[in-house]
Amino acid sequence: MTTWNEYVERNGTIPEWPYPIHYNKENEITTDVLILGGGVAGCHAAISAIRNGVKVVLVEAGHAKRGGSGGAGVDHWHGALTNPCSKVAPEDYTNAIMDCAHGYSNGIARYIISKEGWDTLLECEEMGVQIRDVKDEFKGADFRDEETKLMFAYDYKSRHVIRIWGYNIKPCLYNEMKRLGVEIYNRVVITSLLTEGGKQGGKVIGATGVNTRTGEFYIFRSKATIVATGGASRLFRFAPELTAASSMYGMNSTATGHAIGWDAGAEFVLMDQSGPGYFSGFGYAPYSMGNASNTYHGTPIVDANGKEVPWCDPYGRELKTVQERFLPSPGQRFQLGIGIRLYYYLDEYRLNDLTKDLPERIRKGEFTLPLYADLTRLPELERKCIFGMMVGNEGKTRIPIYDQFTKAGFDPDKDLLQTPIMPPEAYQNSNYWDGMNMPHIRNLSGGGFLVDWKLGTSLEGLFAASGVSIFGAGSHGESQTTGRYAGRKAAVYAKTVPRLTMDRRQIETEKARTYQSIRNNKNGVGWKELNYAIARVMQDYCGKYKNDLTLYHGLRLLNELKENEAATAYASNPHELGRMLECFSLMTLGEMIMQASLARKCSSLYLDFYRLDYPEMDPPEWQKLLPIRLEENKVRVRELPLDFHLKPPHASSYEENYKLHAK
Ligand SMILES: Cc1cc2nc3c(=O)[nH]c(=O)nc-3n(C[C@H](O)[C@H](O)[C@H](O)COP(=O)(O)OP(=O)(O)OC[C@H]3O[C@@H](n4cnc5c(N)ncnc54)[C@H](O)[C@@H]3O)c2cc1C
Repeated sequence: MTTWNEYVERNGTIPEWPYPIHYNKENEITTDVLILGGGVAGCHAAISAIRNGVKVVLVEAGHAKRGGSGGAGVDHWHGALTNPCSKVAPEDYTNAIMDCAHGYSNGIARYIISKEGWDTLLECEEMGVQIRDVKDEFKGADFRDEETKLMFAYDYKSRHVIRIWGYNIKPCLYNEMKRLGVEIYNRVVITSLLTEGGKQGGKVIGATGVNTRTGEFYIFRSKATIVATGGASRLFRFAPELTAASSMYGMNSTATGHAIGWDAGAEFVLMDQSGPGYFSGFGYAPYSMGNASNTYHGTPIVDANGKEVPWCDPYGRELKTVQERFLPSPGQRFQLGIGIRLYYYLDEYRLNDLTKDLPERIRKGEFTLPLYADLTRLPELERKCIFGMMVGNEGKTRIPIYDQFTKAGFDPDKDLLQTPIMPPEAYQNSNYWDGMNMPHIRNLSGGGFLVDWKLGTSLEGLFAASGVSIFGAGSHGESQTTGRYAGRKAAVYAKTVPRLTMDRRQIETEKARTYQSIRNNKNGVGWKELNYAIARVMQDYCGKYKNDLTLYHGLRLLNELKENEAATAYASNPHELGRMLECFSLMTLGEMIMQASLARKCSSLYLDFYRLDYPEMDPPEWQKLLPIRLEENKVRVRELPLDFHLKPPHASSYEENYKLHAK
């Protein structure tokens, strides 16, 4: 392999653009079901749709074989409620999540996930993913079921989260798509949805995109379309050259699906909910530092003198043994895992964790920094499972962490793994490698397309899959399961509707917008400058604390960016053009969040939403969803009860609704 430096030394010049460029050249592709985004949700949607007997096209900005958050692997699968060892019923799981979220989550998606998560995982097993301890490496461990050889994470009694060897999950999905004949368009960034008559709010009949290597224009004609483009890592945090966004999440993660759905007139909810954002990229490589969360759940943490930090149950009772860290406590029915896009947990379902007063005790000198993860204090099989099976299969850890550390001589049987040195308050969250939580850096939290029991959006012909595209759900298993369900429903729908004619004016308008930045003067700002400015506006005007004025100023600034810098921004090649178009989506996404934030005139603990001008927390009259959408380019807001999915015209129970719609 030639490095960049070697190339320049040998040739005396930087490489030429390696692909033929054909800006404006049109490619028209016709399909029954069109899938936007080839992460795990999109890929499983494609497999499910084609198995239901329709033609399927999948479009991915990167490459579907490894693209998306799950592309580098996964070590634990949430939502396997119907696995033979699970002690939790789907209804109880769904209710637990909805109770924790105080209603601000997605009962529809959570129930579908809890009913079908295990079946979806079994499909992955058929495709070649190892989901059982087939080599009996962990025989006799607390977390293993001897009969099925399944291994569990977090709560070893309730057994609904499954540890898997998921390093190859994406290639397995990819190979299955190829085998079944899904037509895949890699390196194409989707830029807009096409609607009947070109009208906002009209039936969705396709999408447009641009190839980031050749610059060619793509027009996709479909009967049903599924959005599975995921979240937006570059919205609040972006620092050119530091790849701030990429250390945990992918650079393609720009929630373009949200933006194009908004422009097309779809309804969104929970866009006002935001979560704490970490300055990933300024922290450490994911899972590289000592910590006790997620993949490392249960790991002993010791201070510089070898004194162990206590583990406690959610009620603050100290847990004396390692085994207790993985079991529900008296007063708990079961524990929900973390990483399921749930930001508020009732103690009844919360995980055991390091003592909550650790920051205070560090300040008092009771624990001396640096802290270390001491895996040697774990039972052997637990240690081997965490730094071995889990770190060897988790996203972004197999090569950079497991392989590199092992080659460099790290031995979990003997060595300690240092945690980052941070201000004491940062030790509140045991996921230490993520760095310190900064109030102005937020995350797109529960916000996404409002969906019905078919995972259909408010626009006919448009479905949503994936943890983040759909409101109020998310994790690897949840993404695949909603993808599988939406794929099925979209296929059924596509069989019943005629193909409609596209509106040529809509295509021409989009084409002009798409290529604007290659036509602009070379002095225009580049996509990185634009992205940095967008992130700065979001941090300053839409951070943790906001009021009407900051939000209006933020909207004004985004609009000014659109009309000035973005309108004159310059892209010098198809790759930069793709990134630029993503920035345009980010500006739209920022507007959506600010509009939703303006609509909610109260603060909310459950939404992690703090209005300085409306400080009252969760007043009863504001405990509702506020769907927002564009109609004739004007923002419309309406109200929806938190339990709308169990109210007429829907049936009153989860199971009845599921039975009515799932098949
Ligand atoms: C390092 C890491 C470890 C994780 N570990 C776990 C775990 O152990 N367990 C767990 O449950 N979850 C885990 N997660 C979360 C889990 O991976 C994600 O929830 C899941 O992969 C999301 O999949 P998705 O398909 O919904 O979205 P994404 O993975 O975001 O996929 C969206 C896809 O759409 C593409 N795209 C975006 N915009 C466009 C556009 N305009 N045109 C075309 N394509 C576009 C993107 O390139 C991407 O491939 C982890 C995440 C990371 C980053």
